Amino acid sequence: MTYSCYYCEKESEQAHSITVYGQEEADERFEVLCGDCYEEWLLSLKG
Ligand SMILES: [Zn+2]
Repeated sequence: MTYSCYYCEKESEQAHSITVYGQEEADERFEVLCGDCYEEWLLSLKG
């Protein structure tokens, strides 16, 4: 089974699930990132 990356939309067998927040704090959902995008996402959290 493969997953579509939330950011780059590539198919990836390696999936990392993240929580994405919308405009409101209660508006959260789960998305899946490939390995590359997940690393970038982690970096973006650190600023
Ligand atoms: Zn990706």
